Amino acid sequence: MSQDLYELLGVSRDADDATIKKAYRKLARQLHPDVNPDPETQEKFKEVSHAYEVLSDPDKRAHYDRGGDPFGGGMGGGFGQGAGFSFTDIMDAFFGGQGGQAQGGRGPRSRVRRGQDALIRLEIELAEAAFGVTHELKVDTAVLCETCKGEGAAAGSHPVTCVTCHGAGEVAQVQRSFLGEIRTLRPCPACRGFGSTIPDPCRDCSGDGRVRSRRTITVKIPAGVDTGTRVQLSGQGEVGPGGGPAGDLFVEIQVAPTTPSSVAATTCCARSACR
Ligand SMILES: [Zn+2]
Ligand SMILES: [Zn+2]
Repeated sequence: MSQDLYELLGVSRDADDATIKKAYRKLARQLHPDVNPDPETQEKFKEVSHAYEVLSDPDKRAHYDRGGDPFGGGMGGGFGQGAGFSFTDIMDAFFGGQGGQAQGGRGPRSRVRRGQDALIRLEIELAEAAFGVTHELKVDTAVLCETCKGEGAAAGSHPVTCVTCHGAGEVAQVQRSFLGEIRTLRPCPACRGFGSTIPDPCRDCSGDGRVRSRRTITVKIPAGVDTGTRVQLSGQGEVGPGGGPAGDLFVEIQVAPTTPSSVAATTCCARSACR
């Protein structure tokens, strides 16, 4: 982390705020994990985000220009966790949040979210690893609840607007202090931020919109895999809350150790790989 922060962003030392912002915006578009998930790029994105965090803050920038450690103390919040920000968050920050919610709040959050990826391990023979093989696999994941089609409400009923927050998903909290009133928004406790409640939840999924199910799928393992290779089956992972799109299923290959039972140890070749 000893790289020059100005160099990281590709700007000169006397660059003004607008130039720095523009440079970071350009880099964030190329390097953001949602766009480019490989680890090296993510590391670079973190560095660039740190650089932007320092150089976009007049105090931190002045401190850095005087030779101070840009990452020692005084951090926290802001862009400290660059990689933790979604692409949309960053773009919203720059473009004033078109497509986002109105000023001052984020609005209710959706009940529908993408599901998680799932991982299962599969042991195959060495010959199968070399030449490829098709296997049947039993997988146990969340699937869409057919009873309520993901909505979470029992037959004949639907989610209703939350009476506590009137659908906003958040409630204002006013605290009095000697400085005056401090008004903060927090997620509505009655609906947990959804803006709606399910008065009569679906019996099969308890309102989650998905149920666990075991099914058999056919996986084609390509030739030339090795222990640790992961075969990705998109959309075969866990269905998300509210019947959201399924994550991916990863099948991790484990090549069974060969046991040269017919070959006595003494007659085995002396190659180091053969023990
Ligand atoms: Zn259901
Ligand atoms: Zn509410």
